[in-house]
Amino acid sequence: MKFQLIDPQTEDLLAKGLVEKIGSSNAIITYKNKNNKELREVLEVKNHEKALKITLKTLTDKVVGVLSSVSEIEAVGHRVVHGGEEFSGSILITPKVIEKIKECSIFAPLHNPPNLMGIEACSAAIKDVDQVAVFDTAFHQKIPAYAHIYGLPYAIYEKLKIRRYGFHGTSHWFVSKKAAELLNRDYSDFKVITCHLGNGASVAAVKNGFSVDTSMGFTPLEGLVMGTRCGDIDPAIIPYVMQMEKLCPKDIDNLMNKSSGLKGISKTSNDMREVIEEADDGSALHKLALDVYCYRIKKYIASYLGVLNGADAIVFTAGVGENSARIRKMVCEGLDNLGVVIDSEKNSRNETIISTGKTQVMVVPTNEELAIAHETFNVLNAKYQKKLIEAKEKQMQDQLNSLTDADKAAIAIFCDKNSSKTGKVLYEAAKRELEFDISEPVFEELLEGMAINKDH
Ligand code: ADP
Repeated sequence: MKFQLIDPQTEDLLAKGLVEKIGSSNAIITYKNKNNKELREVLEVKNHEKALKITLKTLTDKVVGVLSSVSEIEAVGHRVVHGGEEFSGSILITPKVIEKIKECSIFAPLHNPPNLMGIEACSAAIKDVDQVAVFDTAFHQKIPAYAHIYGLPYAIYEKLKIRRYGFHGTSHWFVSKKAAELLNRDYSDFKVITCHLGNGASVAAVKNGFSVDTSMGFTPLEGLVMGTRCGDIDPAIIPYVMQMEKLCPKDIDNLMNKSSGLKGISKTSNDMREVIEEADDGSALHKLALDVYCYRIKKYIASYLGVLNGADAIVFTAGVGENSARIRKMVCEGLDNLGVVIDSEKNSRNETIISTGKTQVMVVPTNEELAIAHETFNVLNAKYQKKLIEAKEKQMQDQLNSLTDADKAAIAIFCDKNSSKTGKVLYEAAKRELEFDISEPVFEELLEGMAINKDH
């Protein structure tokens, strides 16, 4: 469980932390506050509720804490992996939303249930706190049907909702928007290919603020070769391997998700730093893993240059994308005819713009937590605005209801007698004379309702 405490208005990061190995007796808690005070503990953490309790205790701790009370937390934004076709944006969490997230668990059985545990743990630990779900799939929900429908019988989509959903949406959205800002470009008139290269990895084609295609599909398995995932393969391989190796669906799923990718090809590691090190030490399999990894990214970039009919920028982000000049160089090699030319010096210094060609190649650190904080703020802002309008309307209605028929008749007669007066002057005069206690907008509404022209 990762967490950050953020003020979305100032973008100040007040504290951040991580609880690893939840469910074990040697879970690891790491924490750092805004003054760089750190904490590391190993202890038993049975479940997510306990993890959250420890987190809140740390945030309010006298020495390393940054809050005097948990009630200072105004909202919690959750990264929820799968929102299915139900959610194309972030949403305030209600019992109905929780039900829908549960329904989407069928698509992401490893991710949505722990996400729900986190939501429940927050409800239990922080009284009446507003919670917002930010979906990893949401940014890709506007991908057109020709790009999200597979070439399977359409009835399968209708029955099982099998289609491309895409993931890492918050990150693709954040870095694509940031790239437009950095280049001083209008996001709604900007074509960019974003490469999120972490343990999981995906590429997205973003046009005018919308994702129009992405490499991950029905699950995060499709697309690039990742740390332990195979990415695109011929689907006929699956029944063949199952038959030959006598594997059940769960086994083959594990093989493709956990024993493939960099780890599968190199036979040793899913960590890109180790793969590079071994390749440099002469290991042919590690070199092969690197080549396969980079070639697949290059193929996706080239195909999305076609999808977008040329891009203004290509963005590299996440662990590998932000830190490895080597991978960025290998990926972009031989794309110069498509306007992609890397500047070696700038690339080796991890500069923001690392290209000399027509298409800007950029390194833009992702910040999913900040994006979630902004989304949470925006959702709640909309909620408060709506509440404010509703409260205003109710107040007006209450004032109108407080007037008797006799009051209304007196106002009508007064207006008739004072037909030379208009607007505010008329309101003030009527208020003085008749001693009523209604506001000017309510007065105007009343005149309108009585078909009296307030401006005469
Ligand atoms: P996650 O998807 O778990 O959030 P990250 O975005 O942190 O992962 O990316 C993890 C990957 O980034 C690992 O494969 C790691 O080896 C790789 N990485 C981090 N720093 C470097 C580096 N300097 N060079 C190459 N790879 C790196």
